[in-house]
Amino acid sequence: MAAGVLRTVPLAGELTASLISRVAARYGLPTAGVLQLWTCRNSPARHDDGGGARADAEVVLNGAGRRVLAELCRVEPKVLARALPAFTMDDPKISTGREAGVAQARWRAAGTVAGPAAFGCRLCTARRTGQALRAVRYLPRWHRVCLRHGRWLLDADADQPLEHLDVRGAAEVVAAQRRWPGVARHQQGVFLQFVAHGLETPGVLLAVIERLVQGVGEAILGGHAPGCRQGDVDGCDVLKKLRYTQYRALDP
Ligand SMILES: [Zn+2]
Repeated sequence: MAAGVLRTVPLAGELTASLISRVAARYGLPTAGVLQLWTCRNSPARHDDGGGARADAEVVLNGAGRRVLAELCRVEPKVLARALPAFTMDDPKISTGREAGVAQARWRAAGTVAGPAAFGCRLCTARRTGQALRAVRYLPRWHRVCLRHGRWLLDADADQPLEHLDVRGAAEVVAAQRRWPGVARHQQGVFLQFVAHGLETPGVLLAVIERLVQGVGEAILGGHAPGCRQGDVDGCDVLKKLRYTQYRALDP
């Protein structure tokens, strides 16, 4: 395969599938066309009831497939390995057997590969890459506010059109996210156990998330959420979906 002409750098924590989509956009090609560089025998998951492809659909590559992506992006494989959590994941279905030498890809759900995924802030993506394209990143639920742009980055697994909510009018939300590193430092031991064992969320995490969600709710209901355009999506619906998404993992 010919190497790419344009260099496309990965974002920290980006889904491999998201990087492939951004590469395709840079060349003005449909993602499906670029995906033909890899042999792939399954399809990305779709939303129920005839919905579109899920934004948190992820691809795992085999060794030969990783080399193809590195050449396409004109980025060293070790750089991709550092940035993309799924890049070095092996899937036995494509990493072993007679066809292991063929560049292959396999669709998976991001949540089963490297955790929950959220939309990236397009303004931050533009700062980093020069293009305000959609990106999807693995992002813990307590890092969902872009402090630079005052955006609550929404989970990529929900069947709704928004990528973020504007929370610039909700100072409490931004303040809670700013406080978070301090809270995390104090709670690091508990926090690591929580992540490692999928234990029940410690109360302090729950309290911070609760305040974040409440802040967003107040912002929407108070009419301060420009991300939620009038006549586009009902603010209450977004709030309900947001609550549902945020709490689903916490309250099984
Ligand atoms: Zn941003």
